Amino acid sequence: MADKLTLRRGDRLVLATHNAGKLKEFKELLDGFGLDIVSAGELGLPEPDETGTTFIDNARIKAHAAAVAAGCIALADDSGLAVDALDGKPGVYTANWAETASGRDFSVGMRRVEDALQAAGAQGPSDRSGSFNATLCLAHPDGRDQLYVGKIDGTIVWPPRGVLGHGFDPVFMPKGYDITFGEMAPEVKHSWAPGEVGLSHRAKAFSKFVDDVLGGGVEH
Ligand code: IMP
Repeated sequence: MADKLTLRRGDRLVLATHNAGKLKEFKELLDGFGLDIVSAGELGLPEPDETGTTFIDNARIKAHAAAVAAGCIALADDSGLAVDALDGKPGVYTANWAETASGRDFSVGMRRVEDALQAAGAQGPSDRSGSFNATLCLAHPDGRDQLYVGKIDGTIVWPPRGVLGHGFDPVFMPKGYDITFGEMAPEVKHSWAPGEVGLSHRAKAFSKFVDDVLGGGVEH
């Protein structure tokens, strides 16, 4: 069996994302592990086409492309919003729903989700359930990889609420809360501590990644 991928203090890790919002969250999550972190954007690596049809496929495409191009271990995240009344859409195409002629505009993406919910006749909270999903892939240039998955259930609200977070955060209210991710402090949204499971989809996947790859804790 191939050796498991692990990381130690001082090791270089490429974050395979060009998304500023995700990069900020990852840097916050990885703070304290002593890794030498650099993003694919900072290295000027090309953004691969996300041609997969699942979060796993796309996380693998991004992580392997960055690992090979940079020659070191890379971590990628593929994530998105899955709305039950829309049969799981926008799903892996979440970022595409925010695409406009002049670039990504998440207010447009949120409006498209709302229009689709209205067209599906989804009015009350019980018709507006959905989840945020994240798959992390850690890849080595030699082809090895490891996957970590996280999910958070919630409700799609309208109109958007809050200016915190990124992407579709203002329309997502996590189950058990009466505020959206857009109204939630970042340390609550992706709260993470050794031995605890974080709230957000990314924090949940991340805590599995930490247990498996970083030996479970922050070393100071
Ligand atoms: P991708 O993983 O780069 O394909 O993009 C996923 C898209 O899902 C992002 O561009 C965001 O629009 C959305 N998304 C993923 N995670 C979050 C989150 O935590 N908050 C808000 N939007 C998110």
